[in-house]
Amino acid sequence: MRTSLVVIWVLAGLGACLGVAVATQSQDPTKDQEAPLVRINVSIRKDQVIPLEAQKLPADFGAKSFLHVKSLVAFGPRYSGKPGWSKQLDYIEAHLKKLGIASKRDTWTDRRELMTFTNISATIPGKRKERILLACHHDTKCTTGHPDKKHNFHFVGANDGASAVALLLELAPILQKRSNEATIELVFFDGEESLDWNWNEAARALFGSKRYLKRHRDALLLGEEPRIEAMVLLDMVGRDDLHIQEELYSTDLMRRICWSAAVATKNQKHFFVRAEAAADDHKPFLDVGIPAVDLIDLNGNPTWHTPYDTIERMSPDSIQKVAEVVLTMLPAIEQAYFKKANFK
Ligand SMILES: [Zn+2]
Repeated sequence: MRTSLVVIWVLAGLGACLGVAVATQSQDPTKDQEAPLVRINVSIRKDQVIPLEAQKLPADFGAKSFLHVKSLVAFGPRYSGKPGWSKQLDYIEAHLKKLGIASKRDTWTDRRELMTFTNISATIPGKRKERILLACHHDTKCTTGHPDKKHNFHFVGANDGASAVALLLELAPILQKRSNEATIELVFFDGEESLDWNWNEAARALFGSKRYLKRHRDALLLGEEPRIEAMVLLDMVGRDDLHIQEELYSTDLMRRICWSAAVATKNQKHFFVRAEAAADDHKPFLDVGIPAVDLIDLNGNPTWHTPYDTIERMSPDSIQKVAEVVLTMLPAIEQAYFKKANFK
């Protein structure tokens, strides 16, 4: 993904590291035909906290997730065509199958890139057929064949890829036991990473989420699929020095729910200290009006797309914290989008 340039940094003083970032309001799409559909929002007001009940997970949740991270990292690079890519797909499917959760593979070949991608999705039933998506990307950045030699190195994507896959795999049995208002769909997107080293406006990135959404829209028109009411995207959730930024494309209310869950679980110091827009797999959903939030640790992350994104720079505790925030968000998302609660 890529960060936006439309950000003003406010440094907290001499010697400060990156401080609170404030985004400017982007151009008004009604005034500029070239403007993107989704604007960069301003930060939420942190004093407007929705009172939520903190949801705790078993104390070993993070440690169990970490075992998945280790297994996935041991597969090596995991982008299309690499042995680790196939092994990871099998691993995700096998784990879900063991839990008794049927998963679906959607495999296609991109005509322009002549590359094969695979999304995996799995549903956990709720009282309603309409869905809340919990999603991540499973591919790792390709770090070979780039013209600039410094972009070519061995990359295992412990955080950027494996951490969120692991979190969702470990959250699945918890969600199975939960009384879900909506159907919950776990989605593991392929091809999030840009094939070019640089983002280039996602021209060669977000393959899986774009594909998923196109298929969903077709199915929705034919009445073959229930609606998606909200989406929570997880990306890089296991770094030892965890910081989930306030991602400014994300829907205001979804960000407010995320912040309120961080407050409820006493994780404020790891959430929304910094704010910046980041284009990611939630963007295609936002573009068609589906409320979404990206829980991403990109801003100020020194290991991002470097050889140092390894297990040594990760912490089980970070995965545990993010998972508890996600679980705490769920009742509020259900309230907001299924029971039409009006949060003050
Ligand atoms: Zn990445």
